[in-house]
Parts: sequence; C-alpha cells; structure tokens
Amino acid sequence: MPTPSPLPIDGPYVRAQISRRGVRLNDLKTRQGGEYVLYWMQSTHRLDENWALRFATLQADRLGLPLVIHQGLDPTYPHANDRIHSFILENARELAGRAERTGLSYRFVLRHERAENPRVVDALAARAALVVTDLYPTAGIAERNARVAARITCRMVAVESHGIVPAGLFEKEEYAARTIRPRLLPWLDHALQVVEDRPPRVATSRGLMDSLPGTPLDMTALDVAREVARCDIDHTVPAVALRSGQDAARARLDAFCRDTLPHYSSRRVDPNDDLGSSRLSPYLHFGQISAATVARRALEAGPRDQADAFLNELVVWRELAMNFCLRNPRFASLDALPPWVHKTMAEHAADPREATYSLAQFEAAATHEPLWNAAQEELRQTGVMHNVVRMLWGKHLLAWSPTYAQGLAWAIHLNNKYGIDGRDPCSYAGVQWCFGKFDRPFYTRPVFGVIRPMSLARARDKWDAQRYIARWAPASVS
Ligand SMILES: Cc1cc2nc3c(=O)[nH]c(=O)nc-3n(C[C@H](O)[C@H](O)[C@H](O)COP(=O)(O)OP(=O)(O)OC[C@H]3O[C@@H](n4cnc5c(N)ncnc54)[C@H](O)[C@@H]3O)c2cc1C
Repeated sequence: MPTPSPLPIDGPYVRAQISRRGVRLNDLKTRQGGEYVLYWMQSTHRLDENWALRFATLQADRLGLPLVIHQGLDPTYPHANDRIHSFILENARELAGRAERTGLSYRFVLRHERAENPRVVDALAARAALVVTDLYPTAGIAERNARVAARITCRMVAVESHGIVPAGLFEKEEYAARTIRPRLLPWLDHALQVVEDRPPRVATSRGLMDSLPGTPLDMTALDVAREVARCDIDHTVPAVALRSGQDAARARLDAFCRDTLPHYSSRRVDPNDDLGSSRLSPYLHFGQISAATVARRALEAGPRDQADAFLNELVVWRELAMNFCLRNPRFASLDALPPWVHKTMAEHAADPREATYSLAQFEAAATHEPLWNAAQEELRQTGVMHNVVRMLWGKHLLAWSPTYAQGLAWAIHLNNKYGIDGRDPCSYAGVQWCFGKFDRPFYTRPVFGVIRPMSLARARDKWDAQRYIARWAPASVS
C-alpha cells in the first residue's frame, strides 16, 4: 500500500516517475533568456497528480523562472461540438479558481473562429525557456504535439499522466488483458504513492500574465453557454446534463465507493442500474480526476475483492487501451487486428447480412432492433452508454454495416461524436474489442466468422431489455 506521508515533489520518486513518463519531442535546448516555463495543458485538466505540471514545476525551479499554465480550445478538432466544449469550459472555470487558491498562474484562451488567434502556443513558446505538455495518443494530441515541436525554437517535452503505472514501462504492444495484467499489478502499490504538490518557487507576476499573447477568458464572468454558442463548431450535439469538474468527479467517486463498490461485480452487469458502476469515464477521459486518486479511494473503501474487480477495469483494461493506442499507430484501423481476425473476415466478407444500414440510419437510431436503437439514443441523449450495451452496440455495427471497415469507422465516429468520454484510448480499444482485438477465436457464425458474436435476443434473457427500451426508445415498445 502507498506510504501514509506524502513524498516531496523534488525527491527521487518523482524524478524516477518522470523519467518513465516523459518524452522529448524535439532536439532543441532550453532557451537561454527565456522568460518562463510553459505548461501547455491538453489532456490532463487538473492541477494535482499531474506529472507534466510536476515536471514543469521542477524545471521552473531549476531555471529560477516562473511557470505559466496555458490551456486553449480551438474549433478545429474533429467532432468539436457543444457537448465537448461545454464540459471542458465548465471544468476550466473551476480550475481557474483552484489555481488562484494554490498559487498557480493559469489562463484559458478560447478560439471562437478559425481565423481568430491562430497559433497562440507558438507565440507563447517564442518567449518560453521550455515547453512542457501532455503525452496522449488520441484526440489528435500526438499529431498536434509533433507539429508544434517541429515549429517552435525551444525544447518541448511531453509527459504522460493518463495511467497509474507509467505507460512508458511497456515499450511494445501488449496483446491482451492476460498479458499486461501480470506486468502491471506488481507496480501498483509503488505507483500509488502520494506526492505533495506545490507551486514553483518563483511566483508568476500579474504583469507577465497580462503581457502574454492571446486574450484569456475572464473566468469570473464566464457564461459557458454564450461562449459555446459563439464558437464555429457543431451545434447539433448539445451539452450533457452531467456536471463537469473535479468537485463533481470526487462527489461521484465518494458515492460510488459508499453505495456501489461493495456490490460492483453484481451491479455492473445491469444496464438499467444507472449507478451500478462508477460512471467516472468522462472525468477520467478529460483528466479531471486522476486514476490514482480513484484507485486509492476504492482500495481504502473496499471490500478487497470488489475493489480488485473494479481495478481490473480501471487499471488493467484502461492501461491496456493506453498501451494499444500508444504503441500501435494503426489503432483506428482494421490493420490493428490480429491475423486470425483478418483471415476470418476474408472468409466471411461476402456473407449475406441480416440487414445493412447507412451511417445516417445508424446515427438516427433507425434500425429494425429497438434495443440497438435504445442504446444509440442513450449515447446521443446523455453522452454515455452502459458497458454491456456498448458491447452489443459495437458488435451490431460489425454485423449490419456493408463492410467491416465501414463498421469500424462508423463505430469510432459515433462513439467519438456523441460520447462525452469519447476520443479516449478506451474508445478505440472498446470498439476494436468488438472486432476481435484482445480476444480469442470462437465458434464460426455468419458475418462474424470466428469473432465472438453477441446476440440481442440472448441479452433480453439476461436483463430487462424492455425496461431499457421503454426508457430510451419508447416509440419502439410493442
Ligand atoms: C464499443 C465500446 C466503446 C467504448 N467506448 C469508450 C469510450 O469512449 N470511453 C471510455 O472511457 N470507455 C469506453 N469503453 C469502455 C467501457 O465501456 C467504459 O469505460 C465504461 O462503460 C465506463 O463506465 P464506468 O466509468 O461506469 O466504468 P466502471 O465499470 O466504473 O470502470 C471504471 C473505469 O475503468 C475503465 N474501464 C471500464 N471498462 C473498461 C473497458 N472495457 N476498457 C477500458 N477501460 C475500461 C474506464 O476508465 C472506467 O471509467 C467502450 C467499450 C466498448 C465495448
């Protein structure tokens, strides 16, 4: 178990973690005469247990410079919509207050239109000694990091805060939960050590913050809906009711540990049980809460067998997903699937489908199956879908799309467009699992070949599908 007293940020534990979590993105040196260290926040939207921020703090201390934390939001990322924008902005408001209380200098620049404020990060980097950012394989962040690192004229380093165990420990792609589990779990106690976070030694002056390029949002007067309405993004995907931010994430975690964790294994399998699982995936996706905080709290709350079942998802499956997207550049393509899947797909590509639908029909929840339509409606309306239903949903995109490649691409598209936890490594791993990734061959069936099938009819025997349909697609109830 982790040590009871927090470890210092400038001790050997943090240095060792950072050496496993950090990657240099260019070969440039720290700029002599740079005015500050820049932490460009992209995927880890929190100030505690943030390894990139810890590294930036230590570098600022080493150089005797202040630290600037910059977060930006552009209208240009794939699937930019009201749902994602609102969730990020609501959290940013909370983050600004927390930064002020803890002595950190944080700014948020919202780019409403494509023509406005281009390349603020480049302009910030031009005055920085060093740029530190988040290491993250999905949501376009890895590509953006590579582009910026090639353009700027000082050193740029990316540091990973996604996993409890540093993803850098595993240099190759792991093939299944059973292969990564015995390699991950021995690290767990060590990786759950508590570190005492603190601001850098040199304070950042108001004058410096006011002189920086790009106009930051005034968080004290922020009207999220108004700002989002002004952005050149997809306004057809509305904000979700789910409250964003670390306070909401911690409240959810507390309630989960108190009410659900003791019965996690039995409650997690019922899609009608709204609180049968942690429902933390949106907060984990945006890094509003760290997986380590969640794991520590679950281990403290117990019971141990249920905490272990939960950690099997939170650590083993989640970090397998991270390893997959980090180590397999084809994570969004059929190319990422193992040879036995390619063989069976080649043999069954021409099998007659029970039904085929276009992307528009899937998106509109207009298939012949009320249960599938209800799942799509839950995702569209709430931004999340229960894990059991998500598997059924993905398996039927495989079965009812004209080709396997279209099924995979459409599942990723719909998951990432509507899921508030979408664009995550778990999104790609989850969808690819439906197509055979991380799994083994089963008995042969039409269209699926030897990929594990899942039947909507059998699902109806296991849980109350009529109740679920009545809730999410009431027009389909016979
Ligand atoms: C087709 C498909 C698409 C998916 N898309 C996403 C997605 O966009 N974002 C996402 O976070 N998860 C995705 N998953 C994985 C899983 O369904 C969700 O993580 C889970 O339902 C989230 O609910 P929860 O937070 O209550 O999970 P809990 O059961 O409380 O688990 C705790 C945490 O463990 C992680 N986790 C749980 N199950 C898995 C899993 N199977 N694989 C990897 N990590 C897991 C998540 O971070 C989750 O929040 C997908 C799965 C499938 C089959």
